[in-house]
Amino acid sequence: MEYPKSAYIHIPFCNSKCYYCAFISTVNQKLQTGYLISLLKDIDTNYKKNLLSTLYFGGGTPSKMPVDYVKKIINKFEFEENPEITFEINPENATKDYLLCLKEFGINRISIGIQTFNDDILKIIGRRHDSKQALSALKIAKDIGFDNISADLIYGLPNQTISDFNNDLQCLKSLNIPHISLYGLKIEENSIFGKKRPNNIPDDDAQADMYLMAIKILNNYNHYEISNFALSDEYKSRHNLNYWKNNEYYGFGCAAHGYENCIRYANIFDIHKYIENPLLKDFGHTETKEEKLQEEIFLGFRITDGINIENINKKYKINFEKKYVKKNKFTDLESKNALKTFYQFKAKDKLEKKLELEKQLIELENKFAYIIEQEKLEKNLMGINYGEINQVVQKKFLYREIYELDREHKKKQFYDEQRNILYQTRNYQQNKVLREILKQKTINKFKDITGVHFH
Ligand code: SF4
Repeated sequence: MEYPKSAYIHIPFCNSKCYYCAFISTVNQKLQTGYLISLLKDIDTNYKKNLLSTLYFGGGTPSKMPVDYVKKIINKFEFEENPEITFEINPENATKDYLLCLKEFGINRISIGIQTFNDDILKIIGRRHDSKQALSALKIAKDIGFDNISADLIYGLPNQTISDFNNDLQCLKSLNIPHISLYGLKIEENSIFGKKRPNNIPDDDAQADMYLMAIKILNNYNHYEISNFALSDEYKSRHNLNYWKNNEYYGFGCAAHGYENCIRYANIFDIHKYIENPLLKDFGHTETKEEKLQEEIFLGFRITDGINIENINKKYKINFEKKYVKKNKFTDLESKNALKTFYQFKAKDKLEKKLELEKQLIELENKFAYIIEQEKLEKNLMGINYGEINQVVQKKFLYREIYELDREHKKKQFYDEQRNILYQTRNYQQNKVLREILKQKTINKFKDITGVHFH
């Protein structure tokens, strides 16, 4: 029997609760020692002593943990050659001494929760650090030799404008941070924001614009997963790729999820109960073959590599095409051709309308000049020039219409570009990746602009 080659460890301690966060964590640091004892017991009982390829410390805030605790945990595991060991840190805890210890223990990937460089927004979302600390954390990590650094940003935050998010992205890009994760703000029911919704949250449309802008700005990165960008293959998160490839993994710590021997499980969520008995589970479910297959497809669509139909056919003893593709009304090629014709038609239609409006505008300009001349006399006589006012309004209206058309046209071109890139590089399964991306944030816009509905 094969054992998981990846392990996730949940460290549920934080300095305070960020307002958007619904992760399982506590600010009661007094529980740390009891938690460590239980966590080590959990590992001793459930880890099969096989060699790991990736280990991930997530939270909570793992960097709240004393370094000697980190060492005790790492020492429990055996690793393959060149493992990836990731540790999440918050900028306010990123001291040189702490990071040096992590490095000494073999941690070789640091994931920093920056969220934004805008200090006002950081306060609004309840983060404890400021932009200066975020920049310092990145610098310290780099200076002491962490090559594999990941930074998290959130978009769609209260008061955040597209230009704020642009600054955040440009900042990370200019620092050449090798891995960037972008998360759209979601108001979670169990978060502080869930109980009292903040004002000025950018709407879905604005959030979609931010996401699309990020894809453009990070054009020198490999957008290898919906929310993740890596400067090159070596910086892709091996641990997370393991999830997306539907491979099994250990989950240690309260609320940690795991997947072993075809069973998906979650450890007990309550920290106190976990300390009492770390072997309690909140749930466990043995996957059926069909569920495994569906998960493999669904998870695979998150990554640009997509799924490998040949492997899936062998692994699940199915004929993918027969099972899924033939049921569709159109084949992929037919859909593509239909869409192409539709776009061409639409583009032509829009262009003609724009030319017509521009013609009207030129006519109006000429007429306008003439009328002004004619009405100067009337104006002098009557004091008011209704004709001129009317023409100005008309002119503005036409300009606005042209502007809107231009805007729509540009947006459509942008979506078409994105879509073509996807089509050029992927086949059927990558079409599904497009659907996932569209579903995430852009589908409404896409529908509005093109009128195309995927089914
Ligand atoms: S976002 Fe991170 S640091 Fe903030 S409360 Fe949640 S787990 Fe803790």
